[in-house]
Amino acid sequence: MNSITPPPSNLFYQTRQRRPLLSEARGVYIWDVDGKRYLDGSSGAMVVNIGHGNERVLAAMREQMAKATFGYRLHFENEPAERLALLTAEKMPEGLNRVFFVSGGSEAVESAIKLARQWAVATGHGKRWKIISREPSYHGATLGALALTGYAPMTAPFAPMMRMMPKVPAPRAYLDRDNLSDEARGLKYAETLRDKIIEEGPESVLAFIMEPVGGASTGALVAPDSYYRRIAEICDEFGILLILDEVMTGAGRTGKFLAAEHWNLKPDIIALSKGFASGYVPLGAMVAHERVVEPVLAAGGFIHGYTYAGNPLACAAGLAVLQEIDHENLVRRAETTGAALKRELEGLMERFPVIGDVRGTGLLLAFELVADRQTMQPLPKEIEAHVHLVEEAYKRGLIIYSRRTRGGIEGDHFMICPPLIADETHIAEIVTTLEESLT
Ligand code: PMP
Repeated sequence: MNSITPPPSNLFYQTRQRRPLLSEARGVYIWDVDGKRYLDGSSGAMVVNIGHGNERVLAAMREQMAKATFGYRLHFENEPAERLALLTAEKMPEGLNRVFFVSGGSEAVESAIKLARQWAVATGHGKRWKIISREPSYHGATLGALALTGYAPMTAPFAPMMRMMPKVPAPRAYLDRDNLSDEARGLKYAETLRDKIIEEGPESVLAFIMEPVGGASTGALVAPDSYYRRIAEICDEFGILLILDEVMTGAGRTGKFLAAEHWNLKPDIIALSKGFASGYVPLGAMVAHERVVEPVLAAGGFIHGYTYAGNPLACAAGLAVLQEIDHENLVRRAETTGAALKRELEGLMERFPVIGDVRGTGLLLAFELVADRQTMQPLPKEIEAHVHLVEEAYKRGLIIYSRRTRGGIEGDHFMICPPLIADETHIAEIVTTLEESLT
């Protein structure tokens, strides 16, 4: 696929597949050491929201590096962490003003699990421990976050080592072939949460967690509005916490700073990472409502922590990233550029019957390839469309993200999620390259 044969390596990741050596990255483009240019059509794994090589962020990092890169949080407070916590809290729904920094999305989810449980203990609900999640979903690689993940190929090998959490179906309206209205379908899916709480025993249920817009596991799935409204009501009815995994949807990706804002959701805890640091440093945050955090602190403290959490260099970079999002109006740009790109992808559907569905919001977009658009019958597995289309695009200098899944049901979806700074010419380049690759 590339003329370079990378040197023998001691590294290993998921597979043996090797990729070209990275040389430079600026804006929406990445260059390999051969000088070949790639348009980063998935922002890495939906990470680099502000684009690569942003000079203001690099300058902020250099400035902080020259001062101090590490000071252990039990020994020193640090100003970048304080300022980033303040700016983060300003962007959250009212009351979500307690911020706990971590080094990635899995750690943010793990921290949400631990906080929720300690809240239950601190408030006299010690019997509550189950966190209901959705199938399909992805919440992280660590064993706690994995127990919430609804994707059997990833969880199965570890099932004996974890206490898997109860699952309800994520709304996959595009697969439903009933005659329900959107409103009724949203309610139907939301009721599965209520049924599950009752089945499990409401006294044992602690929280419900979801990606407000499905990410990599499902391919930018958005539920009908009624779903979100009813989910919030059900959480209230049983006094369980609502946790939003905004690791992928946060930091402007969906055209709002948080996807929660589309439905006016008021969660108790939010997990953030990816676009929150935009790939400049390993950084994430668990943001919680004061009513959840205060009882835990009053009862003796939050039993949880990571050595690198809240270090000054990561926080200085994170602060500069959030300032850049504001400065360049990137949340609004995600909305308008996303709408334009979605229209173009829908246009491709007319030429390519193999595209069964285009979905998503803002610049969290995806399309799915199918054998039959009417029935949404997936393509035969042997065709390996998810591999071939990615490779065809790669050859032509476009990076897209694919994972073959429909939460256990086979299917081929592709995430088209360029950095939020992408402009009309980048959108045109993405669409033209996709067109050639599909042909
Ligand atoms: N939650 C969601 C919704 C994600 O998309 C991801 C990463 N794909 C994670 C959690 C885990 O984040 P990380 O890989 O940074 O640990």
